[in-house]
Amino acid sequence: MLVKSVVAALGCALGASAAAIPSPIDLIRRDHQLGTVITKCAKPGVLALAFDDGPYQYTQKLVDTLNAAGAKGTFFFTGTLYGCIYNQRTAVKNAYDTGHQIASHTWTHPHVGNLGASQLQTELTRLEDAYVNIFGKKPAYLRPPYLETYGSVMNVARQMNYVVVTNDIDSGDWNNQSPQQSQQRFIQAGAGGNGHIPLMHETYDSTVSVLVPWLINWAKQNNLQLVTVAECLDDAEGAYQPGNFTGDGRNSC
Ligand SMILES: [Zn+2]
Repeated sequence: MLVKSVVAALGCALGASAAAIPSPIDLIRRDHQLGTVITKCAKPGVLALAFDDGPYQYTQKLVDTLNAAGAKGTFFFTGTLYGCIYNQRTAVKNAYDTGHQIASHTWTHPHVGNLGASQLQTELTRLEDAYVNIFGKKPAYLRPPYLETYGSVMNVARQMNYVVVTNDIDSGDWNNQSPQQSQQRFIQAGAGGNGHIPLMHETYDSTVSVLVPWLINWAKQNNLQLVTVAECLDDAEGAYQPGNFTGDGRNSC
């Protein structure tokens, strides 16, 4: 049923315009991902380091660390959790420009499961506007704060074309786990099978300074490529909403 409706939609799209239409395979895969909670990669041999709650004072250092290792990561930024995103616009732009995936973690980091649909739409739209102002794209991936996927979250995400991502490993950095304790969680989970999408926070110095360098080395030892979440789902082209956008020039929260 799902496949049929997507192919039917593709037929309509082809009738309207032959330009810049994703392949049927892409459409079907994306339609499948929308409405589903993604917890891990779609293939082995990869690791999708994902960082929540920035931008913050360690963002640039984290970007530099990843770049020096030839690694890609995914940043689930908020608009205001650790200060106004516009105050970190250089680091945000640098992350985007060097190929990391910039995704949504909402504007204010509320308990999204308790929000009404229109409130959640506003949470997503305000951050989209900031991204457009800073680097000209709207994100297409969302990690809900507190990993809450109940209430109106899945419906609103689907309406607004967001793939919802949670995690399959919790580093526990948010819960006083030391980098060494976090490392044990990765070792226990192992490097086999489809790639991991861990829960980590760039707002802790120990995560950025200790855990990330260890993970870069762990990935190397296990022949895991460090890629973005979209890449690990074979959806690199779907990291952002289609098109380029012009912002309203706003530079404050
Ligand atoms: Zn968060």
